[in-house]
Amino acid sequence: MTVRKKKKTAAKKGGSAKRAPRKVFSFGGGKAHGKADMREILGGKGANLAEMSRLGIPVPSGFTISTEVCAEYNRLGGRLPATVKKDVLKALSAVEGIMGATFGDAKNPLLVSVRSGSRVSMPGMMDTVLNLGLNDETVQGLADRVDERFAYDSYRRFVQMYGDVVLEVDHDRFESRLEEAKRERGVSLDTELDGQALRELVAEFIEIVEEHTGQPFPQDPREQLWGAVGAVFRSWENNRARTYRRLNDIPEQWGTAVNVQAMVFGNMGDDCATGVAFTRNPSTGEKAFYGEYLKNAQGEDVVAGTRTPQPINAASRTRDTQHLPTLEGEMPKAYRELVRIYKKLEKHYRDMQDVEFTIQSGVLWMLQTRNGKRTTQAAVRIAVEMAQERLITRAEAVQRVDASSLDQLLHPMLDRDAERHLIARGLPASPGAAVGSAVFSADRAEEKAKAGEKVVLVRIETSPEDIHGMDAAEGILTARGGMTSHAAVVARGMGKSCVAGCGDLQIDYGSARMVVGDAVVEEGDIITLDGGTGEVMLGKVDTVTPELGGAFSDLMRWADRIRKIRVRTNADTPQDAKVAREFGAEGIGLCRTEHMFFEPNRILAMREMILASSVGEREAALAKLLPMQRGDFLGIFRAMEGFPVTIRLLDPPLHEFLPRGDDEIRLIAESLGSNVAVVRAKAESLHESNPMLGHRGCRLGISYPEIYAMQVRAIAEAASEAVELGLKVKPEIMIPLVANPGELKRLRTLAEDTIQEVREATGVSRLRLAIGTMIEVPRAALTADAIAEHADFFSFGTNDLTQMAYGLSRDDAGNFLVDYVSTGILEDDPFVTIDVEGIGRLVERAVELGRKVRPGLKLGICGEHGGDPRSVKFFARAGLDYVSCSPYRVPLARLAAAQAAIEMAEEPARRSKKR
Ligand code: PEP
Ligand code: MG
Repeated sequence: MTVRKKKKTAAKKGGSAKRAPRKVFSFGGGKAHGKADMREILGGKGANLAEMSRLGIPVPSGFTISTEVCAEYNRLGGRLPATVKKDVLKALSAVEGIMGATFGDAKNPLLVSVRSGSRVSMPGMMDTVLNLGLNDETVQGLADRVDERFAYDSYRRFVQMYGDVVLEVDHDRFESRLEEAKRERGVSLDTELDGQALRELVAEFIEIVEEHTGQPFPQDPREQLWGAVGAVFRSWENNRARTYRRLNDIPEQWGTAVNVQAMVFGNMGDDCATGVAFTRNPSTGEKAFYGEYLKNAQGEDVVAGTRTPQPINAASRTRDTQHLPTLEGEMPKAYRELVRIYKKLEKHYRDMQDVEFTIQSGVLWMLQTRNGKRTTQAAVRIAVEMAQERLITRAEAVQRVDASSLDQLLHPMLDRDAERHLIARGLPASPGAAVGSAVFSADRAEEKAKAGEKVVLVRIETSPEDIHGMDAAEGILTARGGMTSHAAVVARGMGKSCVAGCGDLQIDYGSARMVVGDAVVEEGDIITLDGGTGEVMLGKVDTVTPELGGAFSDLMRWADRIRKIRVRTNADTPQDAKVAREFGAEGIGLCRTEHMFFEPNRILAMREMILASSVGEREAALAKLLPMQRGDFLGIFRAMEGFPVTIRLLDPPLHEFLPRGDDEIRLIAESLGSNVAVVRAKAESLHESNPMLGHRGCRLGISYPEIYAMQVRAIAEAASEAVELGLKVKPEIMIPLVANPGELKRLRTLAEDTIQEVREATGVSRLRLAIGTMIEVPRAALTADAIAEHADFFSFGTNDLTQMAYGLSRDDAGNFLVDYVSTGILEDDPFVTIDVEGIGRLVERAVELGRKVRPGLKLGICGEHGGDPRSVKFFARAGLDYVSCSPYRVPLARLAAAQAAIEMAEEPARRSKKR
């Protein structure tokens, strides 16, 4: 039955069962072959023009030649297939019918624009030809219908564009001739040239073209059309477009579509205008129609900046345009029509639209609509308000905001309009803007900040000893180090701007200055950092602090309801913990205890402990540190009350704590009652060639169990005290750098024994402490089953895991990883976004092995990737229980986690649809 029916249909269509796919798509007059979801073959512009036509919105009629023809054209060595030419002519005659004008007609000529339009917008990268169809005859028709000046100005623009784009005549030749013509007539603006002058100019422009090509300027409109269509297809391959594609990861094979559309003119007189508008304010997100226009002008005049555009309505007025009339006032009928259309478009597309329009003799035409670009602040407000208006769902609102951009909302930003003198560029290590006088040592930073001066700390690289200077500074700039270098990690934790690994800086601590290119920056000179882009500027650049507002909290609340994975923070002080809680952290995933030892009143005791020559001496030094640590932990437990707190035992190489210089050595010798030579010899013996792979992490606990015992005691005593104070505490002790189950087994026993001693001493028998480990050595990931035997939890230390498994030094790789990213070998810096194929596999393997042995094993990640949205999505998929990141990144991790949950929930549906 079905078969017979099919045959019948085929017979009706002339016997061919399968028609060749359409390559030319008409639109206009309330109809269209294409629609919005056909961007792949129509390009963004073509798809939206078709959709607007379908919606009955006034769009000048036209047609789109599909992106598939682009590849065909280039494959045929720059020839349009005959079938396409036939279809184009058919589509052109439809346009003539709708617009009531004829291509090439001497009296009533149809003029068209020929524009590119790829799947994603590539602004200004490809070519356009306007006013096509003009020749020596049709220009007269246009002059009769409008006026001579307008007609010859249009012809002049056409010859120039066609000459430049299609016939490759040097653009400057036309420009200098135009300048000459103005000079000869004693005028300064193009608009001051009269019809006669323009008529002469057209003749001269044609001469320029003919001289270049050795051929007459094409007078046949069809020949002009084939030339322009070919030029637009060829422009997909021009250098600008290629570079743009490479920078924006746009595949070569996509190709561009070509849109041929009837021209409408905004420059035919005072009842004409052209403009751009946004359906909501793109910088604040306010629900207010917002835009600007120019009377008696062409689209390019709005962007050219030679005339100040007027506001379309009162809501669009700025300080500079207060006094100017509005479109609403000048052309109320067209404005009302524009309002009706923008509302329709926004409702239809369910997103903020950026539209282009032209008013010709009082009649409104829409030339383009697309989802509008917006600031992060606007993105949040628009998404939330659209959900409240029930235009989109809450889940859609959560997906509409780019999680990584949230960072911008929480820090001061550079004023976009402020002038800047860029001197260098490094890695965008921690977002936000910082302005201050340059200082080259942590001590100077602290001194000057105490005196009320704002400073930027500039170092070749930072070490834990610089903490006080980093704390005092507005921002940190380093010459060396990657995205997980000390400076980057600490600055992010503090929520401060940081530009790291800026290799062009030559810093000289001795003379307290740096040289970069031609610029010399002395101590006290003002510099500005943009930690979001990695830019370093000379002098002060104004900053602005974005407002958070209620929309942000609404969005976060919705995200929290959707997400499955928890978000903790990396925090070492009660203050950081408090900030993180305000940002919604649900516990501490990593408290790096070593940061506590660098405070000036502690470093001496710490050095005494390291340089002690007997257990007794070491225990004496540790006894000094114990009460300090206990106090730290109690403070953190209080700040994170009710939430788990993971405290990591000492991790960094002892090497980092060694005294530098004679003064420090003398001080320690005195304090230990030893002599300088002995202390110096001991310090020298502790130097390591590869400290990152050296005596650090649990290896310290194995060599010096008393260090770990002191820390566990401090944690257990602080927890007992908190319990006695009636606080709810959930302490977790984390042992770093485990590679072998034997290490963890031994240190777990040590910790359990110490905890038991505390229980007995304090009588707090309810004390419960989880003991777990970091998985940050590749061997640990691969033997995670054996390690899980001794662990209540795993926390992936993806900084070290990346360093060790990728064989990349986290402190040095920043200098050359940029080359890997710019050449496309790597898509991302693996210290920023988890390397899913390599390091990700280790994580997945460890999850599988660990849970096989202990199904209830708690799993988290506390490397810097915990604050990177794409990595968060990977960890959610890998089945971790939580991610932990620096306080200021907690909101973006919450949002990314919710987006991951939505994507994962949609996947089965999408898969079954495909089937
Ligand atoms: C890690 O290695 O990922 C980690 C969190 O520890 P740290 O950065 O302190 O080495
Ligand atoms: Mg580590």
